[in-house]
Amino acid sequence: MKRIKKNDLLPWFTDDHRTLPASYKRSCEKFFKSLKQQAKSRKLQASSFKLDKERIKDYIGYMLKKELQKIVGGLSKPSKMPGPAYNIPAAACITGSKLVNVKGSVCEGCYALKGRYRFPNVKEALNRRLKALQHPGWVDAMIQLIKPHKEFRWHDSGDIQSLDHLKNIFKVCEGTPDTSHWIPTREAQILKQVKPEDVPKNLIIRFSSHMINQGPVSFWPWTSTVKTDGQHSCPSDQQNNECRDCRACWNRDIKNISYGKH
Ligand code: SF4
Repeated sequence: MKRIKKNDLLPWFTDDHRTLPASYKRSCEKFFKSLKQQAKSRKLQASSFKLDKERIKDYIGYMLKKELQKIVGGLSKPSKMPGPAYNIPAAACITGSKLVNVKGSVCEGCYALKGRYRFPNVKEALNRRLKALQHPGWVDAMIQLIKPHKEFRWHDSGDIQSLDHLKNIFKVCEGTPDTSHWIPTREAQILKQVKPEDVPKNLIIRFSSHMINQGPVSFWPWTSTVKTDGQHSCPSDQQNNECRDCRACWNRDIKNISYGKH
């Protein structure tokens, strides 16, 4: 049985409880009980400790950044973007993994399946984040990590995995009202299950057309396309592949963004 410091609560949330020493489990239970009493006395929340999810929510407010990162698998830092991002493996894209074999599609020759994305440490981090989506503390840990940032980009690699995943992203956006979020997606079947008015106001979901030189779709109000005629609106190829002052992708007044084929 491994040794764990009494005041290190992270293994409680991340490890299999059968592997934890009995004295450690008793001490954690005592700590959560004391939190419960404090919450009651301050009338913060009535009976909020019934679910593990709720226990985590209470504890997450006290967690260190590195502990939060362990829950979500860490954020990514694309050099192009003005803020951090979150990425999962492109191989897990439901639609993209089919489009990658379609000639002329935007996923043919997908950048997120090549280059540094194939390094073992990068692959390991992407898979860690994919697994972390199931963690009961994922939403609250993401909120704490994203809060300090003005802009957040979802999925510089990967895509929405399910309606539950999208709804959890909505909760993260609702918990970070001072952050602007942008998520591109090709998952029409998932997106068609929500209404544009249900999307948190600080989130823009852009539906990406599947084929190069295809126009924007009509079923969703915010879109993106890829063009080869040099008439694209994204200026990043003119500025060292960086967004710099441009925030067009986060702007709901701009209905479609077109990117150059890279
Ligand atoms: S349109 Fe602007 S914000 Fe969007 S990727 Fe290009 S440079 Fe960045």
